[in-house]
This record gives sequence, structure tokens and C-alpha cells, in this order.
Amino acid sequence: MNTLDRARLERLWDQEVAAFRAARPRSEERWRDASAHLPDGVPMLWMSKWPGPWPVYVDSAAGSHFTCVDGIDHVDLCLGDTGAMVGHAPEAAVRALSERLARGSTFMLPTDDAAAAAELLADRFGVPSWQFTLSATDANRSVIRYARHVTGRRKVLVIDYSYHGSVDEAFATLDDSGRVVARRGNIGAPVPLDETTVVVPFNDVPAFEAALATGEVAAVLIEPAMTNIGIVLPEPGWHDAVRELCDRFGVVLVIDETHTLCAGPGGMTARDGLRPDAVVVGKTIAGGVPAGAFGLTAELAERVRVRLRGGEHGLEDIDVGGVGGTLAGNALSLAGIRATLGEVLTAEVYPGMIARASEWTAGVQAAIDEFEVPWQVTQLGARAEYSFRATAPRDGREAADADDFPLQQYLHLHALNRGLLITPFHNMALMAPSTTSEDVARHTEAFRDAVAGLYA
Ligand code: PMP
Repeated sequence: MNTLDRARLERLWDQEVAAFRAARPRSEERWRDASAHLPDGVPMLWMSKWPGPWPVYVDSAAGSHFTCVDGIDHVDLCLGDTGAMVGHAPEAAVRALSERLARGSTFMLPTDDAAAAAELLADRFGVPSWQFTLSATDANRSVIRYARHVTGRRKVLVIDYSYHGSVDEAFATLDDSGRVVARRGNIGAPVPLDETTVVVPFNDVPAFEAALATGEVAAVLIEPAMTNIGIVLPEPGWHDAVRELCDRFGVVLVIDETHTLCAGPGGMTARDGLRPDAVVVGKTIAGGVPAGAFGLTAELAERVRVRLRGGEHGLEDIDVGGVGGTLAGNALSLAGIRATLGEVLTAEVYPGMIARASEWTAGVQAAIDEFEVPWQVTQLGARAEYSFRATAPRDGREAADADDFPLQQYLHLHALNRGLLITPFHNMALMAPSTTSEDVARHTEAFRDAVAGLYA
């Protein structure tokens, strides 16, 4: 196996930075002007982490491509980190959203799209009772509150190195001695994380059982496969054990399908026959406008209903419980969900998306093999990701240990300079229904060139 020459990486990085500077003067101008009122010239702090001296400002997008203000066409394999998994400006969703916008978008009253959207989600995920939020984060927060409310327990179990949005409880990790501590980079934690959270490595059934046996856990919040520290797939038996142990210890099992909706129309829940008590979705489901949703089994929905409505002040106090919000469940989001699930992200488009991801994976694997590089690539439905280790990781810690920030930044900038956007902060590509084999081939060629530059 080849080893990485760091001095060579630095030289190549400098070349790519110079190429970026030369090609993107208009983005630079926007960024300099914007910096007067936007820290780092961006409206959300993560956007400052893209590789390169300044962020790329977008002009317009359609399908799986966008054009930046410098007029450069990009194949978008990031797709807003799943927010645009259905492709940019999908026609049916744009039509429904535009029509709704022209007739009023937020009322704190239901429209016909609400029940239709809930039915579409119920059919896909097999849980009947749905509520809507503005983000997957909010959906996770809501379900955690409900789980605490119905179980009377305090703690949430999450998987080591998982990510579920800006949910306070979820920013926990295990230190070297196995204690629960805040993740590096966690900003302003309200309380020490071991007061709210139990952390278990992915695929570790004995640790999971021991954690639930304490009787402290209200909810287990998991992705069916890890997707936020590279992709880590579940081992055979993991999900059966999780379900069985949640039943045994009376814990609410929440499956967060926000990213794994890439695996099929009903996520991994439907694909693999999982049986959660609650399902969370978000990001792309409204075709590009903010929306999140959570669905509950009939049994859990009834437990929640009894707890919320029971007692003298049940209805009177329903707006101060910490679940819901003025814009949550707004008419625009629901029009978007109905059109997107009904007409855009249909079962028919998945085989094509998954085939494109297989092509992308094969392209990456070919370069790994040709240059004998100790990296691996893992596919999950319409998404795939490479990491800087020779074998597929089994848990989040193994995946995190393979991180190489300078190398990752280099590969992303190299791709960007060739008109390819990869999901930032890890090495992931996502396929939209509109992604073509030509789009993927552009990546295959550029990736080979990048690896050759590093290792040939
Ligand atoms: N759950 C999962 C699994 C996610 O990956 C993310 C975001 N990456 C979220 C929830 C939160 O989504 P949002 O930032 O749109 O609230």
C-alpha cells in the first residue's frame, strides 16, 4: 500500500488554492462585501468551512447542477447535504409551492395538504400518526420531549459519533475511559452531557443492553445506518437486538431517517422491515423549503395523547409544552411535502439514483485499486462515501479515527476546481433523480486525477 507524502499534499493544495482564486473573482467580491454584516461572509457558520479562501456564491440551479456567480457549471453531489436530494427546483414541487405561496402560506390552521402529506408518510414508513416541524432537528427534539413525558425518564441514548441536528442531548461522545463527555466543538452545552445522555458504540449489542438495563433511558435515538461520520452500516442482528431490548426495557425507539431516505422510498425502515416507535424525516421532503416530520405508532400516539390531554389544564397548556411552533406545519411546507413525495421522490426514481451511486462507488474503487491507496468506499442506496482507512468502519470511533482534515480539504477543493461539489466535512456524494451517468463520470475522472497527483 502507498503512503501519503505530506509535503506533496501541501504543494498540491497550494496549486488548487491558486486555481480557485483565479477562477472565482465574483464570489470573492460578494464575500468581501458580505463580510461587513455576515461573520466570515456567510449566513450560517458552517458555510465558512468549505475548502478554499472564500465560499462559492450560487447564482441558480436546476436538477443536479448549479451555476455560481462566476458562471461556472457544477455537478452538485452535495445537494445541500440532502436538503436538495430530490434535485434543485423539481418541477412538480415548484408548481405546487408557487401556487400555495400565491394563496397564502402560513395560517396556524390546517389545509388539505396536511392530511395528504401525512398519509403519504404513513404509507412509506408504516407508522400512522404524523406531526410537522420546520427541520429534522425540531422533529428530534419533539420526539425526545414526548418520550420523556410518557416514560417519566430523563436520559436519551445516542450512538457514539452520531449526529441528529442541533439537539443538545445528542452532542455526546465516549472518552478514552468510556465516560460520556461533550463532543469536541460543542458550543455552550446547557448541562454536562452525562446528565442527559447515554452513549453506546454502533453495532455494540452488549453495551446497548447494559445501557438500557439501568432503567434511566426514555428514548433511543438512532440512524439505521450511520451517515454523519462516513457511512457505517448495521451488522446482521443489530436492529433486531435494538428493537427487542427497547421492548424489554420499555424504551421509545426513534429511528431518524433524515439521511437514510436515500436507501428507499420508506428509508431503511421500510427497506429492512424495521419497527420503530417513532420515525423522523426532514431536509428534502418538501422539495427545497424547510420541513421536518415525525411519525408515531398508534400505541405511542395514544400514550402521548392521554398524557397531553389528561388533567384539568391539558388543552389549555398545549401551546407551552415545548413541542410545536408558529411556523411548524405551515401550509407551504405541507404543499411541498405532498408534491415532493407524491410526484418527485417516488418509488420509480430510486433504482436510477441507486444505480448512479453504484457507478460513483465503482469509479472511486477503481482509483483506490489502481494506485493501491489504503482507503475504502461504502454505498448506502443513493449515497456513497469514501474514507481514509483500508476497511469499512464498524462504529463511529473507527470512522472518526480515519479522519484526515488536510487530505479531505484537498480532495474537496480539487473537485470544486473541476466543477464538482462533494458534501463538505466528510467525503460523501449523493445522487438526485436527475443525476446522470455523465455527471458521475466527471467525478470518476477528477477523482482519479486527484489520487494520481497524490500517489502516482
Ligand atoms: N438527523 C440527521 C440524521 C441528520 O443528518 C441531520 C442533519 N445533517 C439532522 C437530523 C438535522 O437536520 P436539520 O439540520 O435539517 O435540522
